[in-house]
Amino acid sequence: MLLTDELLLNYKRCRRRTFLEVYGSHQDREPTKEFLLKLKRENKHHVATVLKERSLVYQQPEASKKDWLLRSQQTLELMSQGVECIYRGRLHIKLSDWQSSLVDSENSIINEMILPIASEDVTLIADPTLLIKQPGKSIFGDWTYLPLNIKLGRRPKPEYKLIAAYHAQIIAAITGELPDTSTLILRQQNDYQINLEYWLPRMYDIVNDCIEMLVHRQTPEVFISRQRCSLCHWHSFCHEHAKSQKHLSLVPGITPKRYESLLSMGLDSLDAIAKANPSQMAEKIGKEVTSQLQQQVRSLLLETPLIRSSYNLQNNRHLPTHAIEFYFDIEAEPDRNLDYLLGILAVDRVNNTEEFYPFLAETVDQEAKIWQEFLEFVMAHPNVPIFHFSDYEVDTIKRLAALYNTPYRETKALLNRCVDIHHWVTTTVVLPVESYSLKSLANWLGFSWREAKAGGDQCVCWYDDWLRSQDSSLLDAILSYNEDDCYATYYLKYWLENFLAESQKYQVL
Ligand code: SF4
Repeated sequence: MLLTDELLLNYKRCRRRTFLEVYGSHQDREPTKEFLLKLKRENKHHVATVLKERSLVYQQPEASKKDWLLRSQQTLELMSQGVECIYRGRLHIKLSDWQSSLVDSENSIINEMILPIASEDVTLIADPTLLIKQPGKSIFGDWTYLPLNIKLGRRPKPEYKLIAAYHAQIIAAITGELPDTSTLILRQQNDYQINLEYWLPRMYDIVNDCIEMLVHRQTPEVFISRQRCSLCHWHSFCHEHAKSQKHLSLVPGITPKRYESLLSMGLDSLDAIAKANPSQMAEKIGKEVTSQLQQQVRSLLLETPLIRSSYNLQNNRHLPTHAIEFYFDIEAEPDRNLDYLLGILAVDRVNNTEEFYPFLAETVDQEAKIWQEFLEFVMAHPNVPIFHFSDYEVDTIKRLAALYNTPYRETKALLNRCVDIHHWVTTTVVLPVESYSLKSLANWLGFSWREAKAGGDQCVCWYDDWLRSQDSSLLDAILSYNEDDCYATYYLKYWLENFLAESQKYQVL
């Protein structure tokens, strides 16, 4: 069995993913998402830029990545020759060599790190971006190597640090000398030195756990987390599995930590949570969360929307309504810090008409122009409320207003007209859904997007492709996705308005 740094990095993010990469069926795996392919291309470009800007002269093994053994032998050969900088080298060691290289501060082998596993079954592999020659003592002579990894991330994430420590330890096992440090170069080209004293012991434990899981084929439990799972190519497979098990991770509000707390109270199903004693639950997860969770579970069990218990139908303010309403949604390119599409769906509720007005930057330097056009349009209808879903639109208005010197009074007037439908939904009702994302809520209402592959990430790829290819079908796809987002917000608002009005009437009666 081969333990690569990619498997280890995935293990830090999701244990189940590493398990599925090794033992999952290919048929259950979705094709790699276009957004991830884009990130891969950008990462490659970033590495090439760093090498060029730092004028790094390097050599690299010639064998392909697939021929890992030959590539590893060639890397070792380059190291023994004392090559100054080795690009995309590959290192490998047997588990027994790994284990005997793990020593404590007194240079004794750390016995608890020795797994009762036949060491010839496991080979550890490392792919540092660069190996940099340093003065020192090693099996090669008066030199050793430091690992250096180049990543596209903005922050030194824990999984990057883990891999950096792993590379350092593999070098130690090969050369007999632990490098002083392990370096990360991130997106802004800033160097980040890993604190090996802190990360090595943590990394030993994680490597051990990962090997044990893989060797003993212990399938990790599924846990669907929107943030972590949305780009994973096992998502459909895991989601189906979670649904078949009625897994609690599909209940909004149940985080991994709360899940553990619920299990520790023996609450492992919707029924159990619905029937649980709220005071006992509150001791572990707090009174407010208990109340929210029990109501969420009731809504799911009854498959019906409920008025949120914290919302007072009689006293609270009403959801704004107007003869004309605007529904606003933005598409952005985060890498360029560019908001390239400001879409408005204008709904005339008296004359029963709907019209979509997209303010689109066809080139990256048109953001100021579309912002001005957008401002003129919305200012021409000063009393019309602007509905949007979540904080992004308000944050963007503030960003663009500051960037393009929009007068404070205009900006303030515009912000005062914004109504966040996500906030309204999540503070007034509880719905039988898996998440309170626009897609999940609108799907529950029976709405579907015209572009089956649609999503914010996909739009980023489409816009990037448009800039390169000038293929107008890509812009059409983005426009219809944005228009559908506006429609989804409109239908959701309309449903909420009616539901609150009906519930209020019912309560009065
Ligand atoms: S979909 Fe989620 S739970 Fe499944 S492997 Fe991927 S990250 Fe892990």
